Amino acid sequence: MTTIDPVELARAMIRRPSVTPRDEGALDVLEAALTRIGFVCTRMVFAEEGADAVDNLYARWGRGGPVFAYAGHTDVVPPGPLPDWSRPPFEAIVEDGVLWGRGAADMKGGIAAFVAAAERAIRSGVDGSIVLIITGDEEGPAINGTRRMLDWMASAGERIDHCLVGEPSSNERLGDMIKVGRRGSMNCVLSVAGRQGHVAYPQRAQNPIPPLLKMLLALSEPPLDDGYERFQPSSLQATDVHAGNTAHNVIPARASARFNIRFNPNWTAASLEAELHRRITAAAPGAAYELTAICSGEAFLTTDAAFLSLIETAVRDRTGLTPERSTTGGTSDARFIKNIAPVCEFGLVGQSIHKIDEHASLADIKALAGIYALILERYFAAFGAPRP
Ligand SMILES: [Zn+2]
Repeated sequence: MTTIDPVELARAMIRRPSVTPRDEGALDVLEAALTRIGFVCTRMVFAEEGADAVDNLYARWGRGGPVFAYAGHTDVVPPGPLPDWSRPPFEAIVEDGVLWGRGAADMKGGIAAFVAAAERAIRSGVDGSIVLIITGDEEGPAINGTRRMLDWMASAGERIDHCLVGEPSSNERLGDMIKVGRRGSMNCVLSVAGRQGHVAYPQRAQNPIPPLLKMLLALSEPPLDDGYERFQPSSLQATDVHAGNTAHNVIPARASARFNIRFNPNWTAASLEAELHRRITAAAPGAAYELTAICSGEAFLTTDAAFLSLIETAVRDRTGLTPERSTTGGTSDARFIKNIAPVCEFGLVGQSIHKIDEHASLADIKALAGIYALILERYFAAFGAPRP
C-alpha cells in the first residue's frame, strides 16, 4: 500500500480542468485514490431539466456508526483571462513551496488533504464509517449536486452523524477561522399596480410610484432585527427601482423594485415573508401589490457544542490558533447538509479563491491533512462505541 501524498493528489485533480459544470476526469482521479485506500465509491450523474448534467461522487469506508462525513466539490470557477495568470491555471505548477492553479484552495487541495487524512485514520483503525460527499456542482446552480446526492442518500438509507465541509474557511492563516453557520438569502421583487394616465389629469389615473416608495421605506426602517448570536443584523438592500417609463407626461401603470435580504436565524424564509407583507400593507393600505420572494438558503447556526469544540481543539493543538467561529461569507453546500446533520466548515486559506493566480501553500496542505487526521482520530474516540 502506497501512501497518499496530498500535494500530488491535488495536482492530479487540478490538471483536470473541471470548470463547472464539466468534470474532465477530476472525479476519476479522486475515485481512484479513494478506491486504493478501501473506499466503496458510487458515482451519480444527475440531469434535471433546465440545468446541466453533473457528475458526483459518494464514497464510503466502513458500515457501522458513527458516520463522519466530509463534503466538498471538484468543480472550479472559470480561470478568467489566461494571459493574466503568472502560471497556467491547469498545470498545477509547484514553485517555492506554493501550488498554483485553479482549485488549489477552492477546493481540490482541501479534498486531497482529507483523503490523506482518511488513509491515516483507516490505518490506525476507524470505529465507525467515513463518508465523502463530493459534488461537481457547487460553483454552478447547485441543483444537480449536493441537494440531489442528499435525496439519493435518504432513499438509499445512507445517513451521517456529523459533517465537515472542507471549503477554504481560513482567513489569513490556516486555522484562524471555522464557519459555524450562514446567513440566509432571499431575492424579492415587489411591484405595485396603478392606472396609466396623463400627468395633467392625475384624478383620472393612479400613480403606483408613491405607494411603492412608501413600501420600500417601510421595508428598510426600522431594521429587521439587531443581530443574533454570532450574526450581524439582518439586512435588506434595494437593488433596483423601476417604472420603465420614458415619457415626461405619463403616469405609469406599474412600478416595481427589487431587493435582497441577508437574514440571521431570527427569521425563516416564511416568517420573513410574512413580515414583508405586514410592513407593505401597513405602509400603503389598500394598494394593489405583488411580492415574489425566493429564498436560496435558510439561515442556520450549528449548535452541536461537542462537535464544534472537537474541531476547534484539533485546529488549536496543531496550529496554535484558536479559530474564530464565523458565520460570514457567501453560501456553501453546508446550507443543504445542515438539514441532515450538524455541519462545520474548515479548510485552507481562502484569500486567493476565485481570483487570478489561485494558490495554496504546500505546508498548509500538509498541515491540513494532519489536522483532518487528528479530527478523525478524536472523532471516533469521542463518538465511537464505548470499548469494553
Ligand atoms: Zn468552494
